[in-house]
Amino acid sequence: MTGPRKFVSGIVPPEEHSNPAWWFIFQESKLLVYSNPESVTVPFLIDPEELGLTANRQNYLGRIDDNRCYAAEVSEGTTPPAGMAFEGLRQVYGRLDEDLFWIAARAVQIIDWDRTHQFCGRCGLPLKTRTAERAKECSQCGLLHFPRLAPAIIVLVERGNELLLARSRHFMPGMYSVLAGFVEPGESLEEAVVREVKEEVGIEIKDLKYFGSQPWPFPHSLMIGFTANYAGGEISLDDQEIEDAGWFTVENLPKLPGKISIARKLIDGFLARRGG
Ligand SMILES: [Zn+2]
Repeated sequence: MTGPRKFVSGIVPPEEHSNPAWWFIFQESKLLVYSNPESVTVPFLIDPEELGLTANRQNYLGRIDDNRCYAAEVSEGTTPPAGMAFEGLRQVYGRLDEDLFWIAARAVQIIDWDRTHQFCGRCGLPLKTRTAERAKECSQCGLLHFPRLAPAIIVLVERGNELLLARSRHFMPGMYSVLAGFVEPGESLEEAVVREVKEEVGIEIKDLKYFGSQPWPFPHSLMIGFTANYAGGEISLDDQEIEDAGWFTVENLPKLPGKISIARKLIDGFLARRGG
């Protein structure tokens, strides 16, 4: 690992192409890395052709320190070059330099947006890429298409020395986490938090406080984290999503989500406050 890398977002690539660039090359949502069980890295090249690869599409992302970086996509079925592999982002977390990981998380969303926004949703004509902002514009009607971003709230609810954790049906066996849900159109983040907690476990909360946010590229969420205190009600599971929920102390924690997630950062924050 090197020191922190400075990333500056960009849309139009600079004229010079003679120096190597970082390439975040995807096959569907899997990233091409030099494969190694402990650590992986992404290619640093002038062009993916150096690896014998042909990119279907590529998007300039900006600069990492003094070097350009790109998101690119190769066809399904492309064989990875020798010593390399296509790996899911969750699989490379912890093995890829953390700064590069979060740029890969950005890259996969730009590629997905580019792939799925070729034509106008209103009139079906081809879109052209704008250069002033990350957007595409319909050549016929002018409708703008921005990258998709789905805001979702996530909240840690405390009651004295306990925290509320719940199990979604699609979690790994034994794992519990804090509550989360998508923001609805017309709703403030605070309203979304109160509604989600009420809907999923039937309780009231108070003292809502902003914690932090995190991109979550599975596939295009932005997680906005809060903490809150219990204000009243009994746990009742009305939502089809949640199969179990309960109050836990530092001493009796279940299996928790991985370090990659803001869920875990919220829980670790609680544990630090409670001396866990
Ligand atoms: Zn149109």
